[in-house]
Amino acid sequence: VLTVQNVMKSFPGADGDVPVLRGVSLSLERGETLALTGESGSGKSTLLHLIGGLDKVDDGSITVAGREITSMNDRDRSALRRTEVGVIFQQFNLIPSLTVEANIAFQARLGGAFDADHAARLSRALGLGDHLSKYPEALSGGQQQRVAIARTLTARPKLVLADEPTGNLDEATASEVLGQMLRLVRETGAALLMVTHSQSVARRMGRHVHLSQGHVV
Ligand code: ATP
Ligand code: MG
Repeated sequence: VLTVQNVMKSFPGADGDVPVLRGVSLSLERGETLALTGESGSGKSTLLHLIGGLDKVDDGSITVAGREITSMNDRDRSALRRTEVGVIFQQFNLIPSLTVEANIAFQARLGGAFDADHAARLSRALGLGDHLSKYPEALSGGQQQRVAIARTLTARPKLVLADEPTGNLDEATASEVLGQMLRLVRETGAALLMVTHSQSVARRMGRHVHLSQGHVV
């Protein structure tokens, strides 16, 4: 469902371009869960942004659900992002004027794939059943994070990209939310690429790659 081939990405620095990704390759099959680790600044979020079509590669290719995204125009790329790819970043970007329930439905509705039963089941599984009519401001950070996870999975993406989705939670809650997330992702047959700083989280994922010096090791 995902192939990343020899991706290069630099950012402008004070003394010219600074290479961050120097030829990164990896692939992910349907149903696989892959942990991505690497020190701070190693380019993990950069790689997720490229795969999610939020930024452009300098060189190399990325194929998502059989479609090469590096040569796509912005409109096709955002359509793909709505239907095939789900992203869960650290800033959950919930919509403050919508209830929890409406936030969860939002993305699936955009993609034309909203299923109320599926949404309700995900909400319950993530412990949000009692919070559906609240607004995001009335939720704790961890609850907001779970809303972001439910919102993404409700749209049934083929590929889920998650950047430290449990990074703001205490250890016990993180472990529980991760367990639910892995179960739900596996149930829907999606593939998951998740950035984590935690070795114990990485061990619970199917595979594990490490980003260092711009390469996957
Ligand atoms: P962390 O674990 O701290 O989140 P990371 O592995 O996700 O780190 P990235 O955010 O991908 O790291 O950043 C990799 C490098 O690229 C850093 O040196 C960062 O300063 C640089 N960088 C990222 N985005 C940009 C940008 N939009 N413009 C300029 N430099 C950037
Ligand atoms: Mg990051």
